[in-house]
Amino acid sequence: MSFQFQCPRGHLLEGDPSQAGQQCHCPECGMLFIIPAPLPPGPGGAAGNWPAGPQFPVVGPQFPAAGPVDFSAQPSSPVVPPEPQPAPDAELLHIPCPNGHELETPRDMLGQDVLCPFCNIQFRLREKDSVEFKRKRKEELERKERRQGKAWFNWAIIAAVLVLLLLLFLIFSSSG
Ligand SMILES: [Zn+2]
Ligand SMILES: [Zn+2]
Repeated sequence: MSFQFQCPRGHLLEGDPSQAGQQCHCPECGMLFIIPAPLPPGPGGAAGNWPAGPQFPVVGPQFPAAGPVDFSAQPSSPVVPPEPQPAPDAELLHIPCPNGHELETPRDMLGQDVLCPFCNIQFRLREKDSVEFKRKRKEELERKERRQGKAWFNWAIIAAVLVLLLLLFLIFSSSG
């Protein structure tokens, strides 16, 4: 069963009662508006039509009759371009040699024995020696400490509330 309604500009449209309350664009003028609920059948027996006139809540901006339509104010899902992620294969690790020379090595060199070009010392590239790994571990440690600090803060609040309740209880029990 369909019913008729009008867009804010007065174009007569037809819709399903289940669409009432939904946003729709008038196919005639492109106006964005909310489909009104169908009126109960009038005394004449026919399904009542919405009275004419722009009296519905208009959701979108009032477009000028001519000219470019501004869609910027409409609720639309913006297309977010995917963040450019560095390919994991191209990731470079900085691993210091035993003498402290920092060498740039791709990830697939890990576990291999290399010669430091600065001091010719042979050493093994290990991820846990890399600057990146140590930085990551430090960040994780700091995160953990922050979490623990927050937990302590929460416990302090709970303790304060409990003490307050206890005080209130003592006051009330002594006065009564
Ligand atoms: Zn219209
Ligand atoms: Zn070196």
